[in-house]
Amino acid sequence: MLKKSIFEQILSGEIDSEILYEDEDVFAIKDINPVAKIHILIIPKKKIKTLNDIKLNDSKLISHMVLVGKKLAKKLKIDKSGYRLIINTNSDAGQSVFHIHLHLIGGEKLKNI
Ligand code: 5GP
Repeated sequence: MLKKSIFEQILSGEIDSEILYEDEDVFAIKDINPVAKIHILIIPKKKIKTLNDIKLNDSKLISHMVLVGKKLAKKLKIDKSGYRLIINTNSDAGQSVFHIHLHLIGGEKLKNI
């Protein structure tokens, strides 16, 4: 059997982590090592290793992740002040978990990139 990603282990309850949001296709948790006051991960239940692996039929899933990011930003009242949605891909971007996820980062002034 293929090794489960850390996020699949969180979803199945093998690793304890509060689930902040969940629907049929995605779930969201707080990042264990936040880089800003608000740092949430929006994760598809379907394991896709990197953005390089998405297919045309994943389009709805990817846009759904962005919409959930927008919804959580509003819920956390950072929609007006501002936030970032980031997907790191492979080593130069610092991807460390090979199960795609969208970082929602905000709650304070972020450094320019
Ligand atoms: P990446 O570097 O792949 O873009 O992002 C992976 C993120 O997952 C990192 O920001 C890291 O802090 C977070 N992370 C890794 N392991 C865990 C965990 O067990 N629980 C939570 N909540 N976040 C994790």
